Amino acid sequence: MELSLKRETFVTNYPPYSVMQTKHVASIWERRPVNVYVHLPFCPKRCHYCYYRVEEYKGKDPISKYVEHLLKEIELLAERPEIQTCSMQTLYFGGGTPTMLSAEQFVQIVEALERVFPKTQDFQFNVEVRPGAEATQEKLNTLKQLGVHRISLGVQSMNDTILTANGRNHKTETFYKTYDRIRNAGFDWVNCDLMSGMLHETDDTWKYSLELLKECNPENITIYKMEVFFNTKLFSAVRRNPEILISHETEAKHFRGARNFLESNGYFMCNNATFATDHKYIDRHRQNVQYGGDMVGIGLSSHSYFQGNMYQNTSDMKEYQEVVAGGKLPISRSYKLSQKDQITRHVVMSLKNLKVSRSQFVDNFGLDLTQVFPDEVRRLTSEGFAHLDNEHLSIDPEYYDFADDVARLFYPMELHNDMLAHISRKE
Ligand code: SF4
Repeated sequence: MELSLKRETFVTNYPPYSVMQTKHVASIWERRPVNVYVHLPFCPKRCHYCYYRVEEYKGKDPISKYVEHLLKEIELLAERPEIQTCSMQTLYFGGGTPTMLSAEQFVQIVEALERVFPKTQDFQFNVEVRPGAEATQEKLNTLKQLGVHRISLGVQSMNDTILTANGRNHKTETFYKTYDRIRNAGFDWVNCDLMSGMLHETDDTWKYSLELLKECNPENITIYKMEVFFNTKLFSAVRRNPEILISHETEAKHFRGARNFLESNGYFMCNNATFATDHKYIDRHRQNVQYGGDMVGIGLSSHSYFQGNMYQNTSDMKEYQEVVAGGKLPISRSYKLSQKDQITRHVVMSLKNLKVSRSQFVDNFGLDLTQVFPDEVRRLTSEGFAHLDNEHLSIDPEYYDFADDVARLFYPMELHNDMLAHISRKE
């Protein structure tokens, strides 16, 4: 078509004013949905592999003082104009052991959060629970009344020898009692965490744990790999004797065995670690965060991702309380993501959910995934690790076990150091 330039009319606006409609007025003031995480850093005893910022509860009540400061931190957050335009899509109480709090303390925190963040219609609320006497029936009933949807129970193993060898402070019998109280409180959605790669795990103990857990019919089972972090008792033990660890190959075999077992018993894999019995049992806190949604962390050492910034609260309890008491948010470090970081983060985190949506990628960044990452997409698809169609880049189910390794391929070259070496093809 021949271009004709006639100076017809001025452009007054784009898009033209005619696209505006009365029905869209309400959306001008729509709040930005965020996922809220609250860290409750107390445990009766530290597990040998634990690298979280937790304090052992030592008789004297440190929790009331902590909750007091947590409530103050929520008030301080509420003063931020950026927070005043947010709504709460998910709420997650993690730790630590959240059930070390009293029922009244749970109520206080939830009410304080609800004053700051209106809940979205599809709001979802998760609480982590440790098998233990502190998860009383009264507390679990209160959690149910507070609207908690999902309880996540740290089971780790159904073998007492393994639990003790890895420094867990509960027995299998404790798990059964806690699980019964959770169901008695009326919860119809329970996640049970198992841990692969624990000390003394054998093919038989692993299989037995899975079978016992499956008999309880939790709606989710999540399998985390035990990793050795430098600030743990496990790290010192491994330094003295590296032979105590089971090999990566055995751990990978156990994960694959668990996956086969769960998939033949009505579960499907919904992200890099979690199995569900139904699509209605998808943990949207984790899913939203993994798809790059904003997360506001509250409490000691909590992490946040908000409007393109990653930041973390101080991990020092004294400093946390002093800063909050002084009227400041206790954020100790942060990083502003560049556009390139945000794009990479989106793909990396989405792949932990096993696929990247191409339309969402275009909506967020204005380009197709294949334009930004042509080499990575070509390599993954040509080697069969992933498939590309009009909707998604999806990890091949054969390689779901290696979702994190596939995600790391999108790291910038200086970070990923030939990560392909970590993806083992199953023969
Ligand atoms: S229960 Fe969880 S948070 Fe507490 S010490 Fe053990 S691993 Fe750490």
